[in-house]
Amino acid sequence: MKNIVASLLILMLAHFTTCAQEKQTDNIIIITLDGLRWQELFTGADSVLINDPGYTRNVQRLKDTYWAPTPEERRRKLFPFFWSTIDSLGQIHGNRAAGSKVNVLNEYRYSYPGYNEMFTGFPHDTTGKANSVDYPNKNTSVLEFINQLPAYKGKVAVFTSWNAFHAIYAEKRSKIFVNAGYDSIKFKTPVFELLNEMQWRVHDEGMPSNERSDQFAYYMAKEYIREFKPKVLHIGLVETDNFGHEGNYANTLNSANIADAWIADLWNMLQSMPGYKGRTTLLLLTDHGRGDKIKAQWKDHDATIEGADEIWFAAIGPGIRPLGEIRQPEQLYQAQLAQTIAWLLGLTFTAEHPIEKAFGL
Ligand SMILES: [Zn+2]
Repeated sequence: MKNIVASLLILMLAHFTTCAQEKQTDNIIIITLDGLRWQELFTGADSVLINDPGYTRNVQRLKDTYWAPTPEERRRKLFPFFWSTIDSLGQIHGNRAAGSKVNVLNEYRYSYPGYNEMFTGFPHDTTGKANSVDYPNKNTSVLEFINQLPAYKGKVAVFTSWNAFHAIYAEKRSKIFVNAGYDSIKFKTPVFELLNEMQWRVHDEGMPSNERSDQFAYYMAKEYIREFKPKVLHIGLVETDNFGHEGNYANTLNSANIADAWIADLWNMLQSMPGYKGRTTLLLLTDHGRGDKIKAQWKDHDATIEGADEIWFAAIGPGIRPLGEIRQPEQLYQAQLAQTIAWLLGLTFTAEHPIEKAFGL
C-alpha cells in the first residue's frame, strides 16, 4: 500500500511539473536597441568605420574613447555593463564567430516586422510592411495577452522613442499604456512634468520627426517604475539605428554606450527596490541587423542586405542561468522572445496565430 501511495504521489508530481509552468520571475523589462549590430556588441568599435573620416568626423577623439587593440578590450569600453555584470550573471547570445547565431525569421529585416516578430512570436506578417504608425497590428502581442490577465491588468507599459509602437502594440485594441515618439505625458510629478516640458524643447537635427531622443523614453520609464510599479515594461531605444542610417559612427557608438549605462542604472535601481530586487529579469535585444560584408552597408538594413537578419540577445535576472557569453554552436530566432516572456512569468502565450517556442534559457 505504501508503495502504491508513493508511486501515485510521484505520478501526480510528474503531472504537475509538465502541466503547470513554473514561474521564474515576477517582473520583466525588455529593452530594445534598434538596429544595433552584433559586430559592435561582440567586438567593439569597427576598425574600418572608426578610421573613416566619412563616418567619423573626429577620428582621434572617437579612438581615444572606444579604441583598444583587442576585440575583448574594445567591447568592454563600449559596453562596460554587458561585459562585466551581464557576462558574469546572465547570458549573451549572437557571437557568430563563436558559433552562437541569433536571426530574424521575417523576410523584411526592418523595424515594424522585427518588433512584430519578437512580441507576437509570429514572424509571417504583412501589416508591418509599411513600417508606420498608420497600420495597427492585427496580431496579438504577448504584452496584450498578459495585460488582459487580472493579475497584470494595468501593469504592462511601453516607453519608446519611435511613434510606430502605438500601432505595433495596437494600442486602441490592446489597451496597453504606450508612450511613443513625441508623446505628452500627463502624470503630475515634478519629474514627469520636467521630462514632458523638455521633450518638446529638444529637437536633435539628426532625428526624424517621428522619433524623439532616447533619453525621454528611458527617464520616463524609470520614473514610471518608481511611481506605478509595472510588472512588464518595454523600453524601446532607437538612436543606434537612426545614427547608423545617418552614417554618423560617433553618434552610433555614443548612443550604444549611453544605452549600456542606462541598463546598468536601471539594474542598480531595481536591486534597491523591494518589489523588484531579485525578482526582475531584463531581456535585451535588437529588431534587425545591418550590413557588414560590403562595409558601406553598415548604414542600412532590408531584405537585400546580407547580414541584416543577424541579431543578438542578452538576458539577466531570475530564470536566466549564469552562462555568460555563449561560445558554442546554437541557433536562436527573434520570434522566440514572445513565448519566453510568457514562460518566465509561468504563463503559456496563446493567440489567433501560431507562436514560436520559447528559448531554453
Ligand atoms: Zn533602420
